[in-house]
Amino acid sequence: MMDIHKTLILQQEVTDLVIPVDHVAHVQLGNSLDHALLVLIKSGYSAVPVLDRAYRIHGLVSKTLILDYILGNERMEYEKLREHQVEEVMQTKFPRMKANGTFFRALELSINQPFLCIENQEGVFTGILTRRSILALVYRYFKEHKQQ
Ligand code: AMP
Repeated sequence: MMDIHKTLILQQEVTDLVIPVDHVAHVQLGNSLDHALLVLIKSGYSAVPVLDRAYRIHGLVSKTLILDYILGNERMEYEKLREHQVEEVMQTKFPRMKANGTFFRALELSINQPFLCIENQEGVFTGILTRRSILALVYRYFKEHKQQ
């Protein structure tokens, strides 16, 4: 019985857990570091996706990446915030998953990532999957099955 449940949870698609794109704070290619920092601070998130106009994902930008970039030898070089763009600092290697990917794959990728970017078959960004929602599902699963 337990094995059947285990298989089902691991093989289910992640679609239902995804925070949809219209609820995801993001920035666009060409945005200044100044704008990105504003989005990050106002949203309270440590990192957000960088998209193009067609909603394809190009990278992730974080407060840490921006602050590292403007860190000079003697002072913070704040002028760089207006002079430089997100593509100059963004992280371009990051895990991404198709919306029909399995929960097992999401669980594996989330070990090293607080959130995963989800895209459709055409490569268009559809939302994110957070480690929090993955863990919440695992917790509910164990709670429901702990006496079986
Ligand atoms: P949480 O699980 O809510 O702590 O989120 C973990 C990380 O996922 C945050 O630090 C953000 O980088 C990202 N994140 C979560 N929700 C959103 C959202 N609505 N928009 C953009 N990024 C998000």
